[in-house]
Amino acid sequence: QTKRLPGAANQVIDLRVTDPAHVRNQLERDLQLALSQGELDVAYQPIVRAADAVVTGAEALLRWTSPSRGAVPALTTVAVAEQCGLITEIGAWVLERACRERGRWLAEYTDQPLDLSVNVSPRQLMGPGFVAMVAKVLAETAMEPAALVLEVTESVFIDEGDRARRVLGELKALGVRLALDDFGTGYCSLNYLQQFPVDIVKIDQSFVANLGRDAPASAIVTAVTHLTHVLGMTVTAEGVETAEQREEVVGIGCEHAQGFLFARPLTAREFAAQII
Ligand code: C2E
Ligand code: MG
Ligand code: MG
Ligand code: MG
Repeated sequence: QTKRLPGAANQVIDLRVTDPAHVRNQLERDLQLALSQGELDVAYQPIVRAADAVVTGAEALLRWTSPSRGAVPALTTVAVAEQCGLITEIGAWVLERACRERGRWLAEYTDQPLDLSVNVSPRQLMGPGFVAMVAKVLAETAMEPAALVLEVTESVFIDEGDRARRVLGELKALGVRLALDDFGTGYCSLNYLQQFPVDIVKIDQSFVANLGRDAPASAIVTAVTHLTHVLGMTVTAEGVETAEQREEVVGIGCEHAQGFLFARPLTAREFAAQII
């Protein structure tokens, strides 16, 4: 992990390494300012149909460029935001920004449908007013609900299962779709797939990375894909970096793929210029 002295340009701080409270407090203070100072941005990574690499959507990914710290990793930003509660405000900002940007692309550049995936962290999902916020953003940005995919992780099912089921049900009632992100890295109970109204399973990149090299990885991706299909959901393979991995993913029957092989996360401007 990279770690530089405070104040150094492009400093990268990873909370898993530098966890002392004073570092986090400073990060919290900086993040509080970041939103109002315009230091936050959203990057967009294409999601493609695995078989022919046609772009069907984009995943919105939070980016924070701090004047003193440089680019802060999204996982760090989100962890800090979750901890101090700013995730509610920042998450709403990302959703609004991404829906608006997608609307602009559709108006100016393309007639093709384009799904938009937005990550939702547990504290944000379970906080009061989340469903109402989503409904408001959809209305204000004139976005078709079915084109929005909210990505959640398994942890919400474990901690507050009943409430999570109710909130996800309300989101489904709005017409948005739900994806289970990073599948396989958490508690990974196959039971959740059946109990919660999920439309898409995103197989974590740690499994995809070992495809071709590692027979168990192929077996896991195959089994999860088949099970997902039996339950009427589709599969997106995350972190596809090589042609070999893509071939395996296509052979296994994953509908969609995402990864550096196709494109890295791009600025909105790059996405409009290069992708659509
Ligand atoms: P995620 O939702 O699983 O997003 C995919 C991550 O994998 C992104 O990292 C993306 O840049 C990276 N990635 C994509 N293709 C490849 C590949 O081929 N190889 C490798 N090695 N990596 C690839 P990023 O942008 O750093 O985001 C990390 C995590 O931060 C996300 O994982 C998500 O959990 C969280 N995150 C990002 N933006 C938001 C947000 O707006 N809200 C919330 N709650 N979480 C967010
Ligand atoms: Mg995601
Ligand atoms: Mg993921
Ligand atoms: Mg991931």
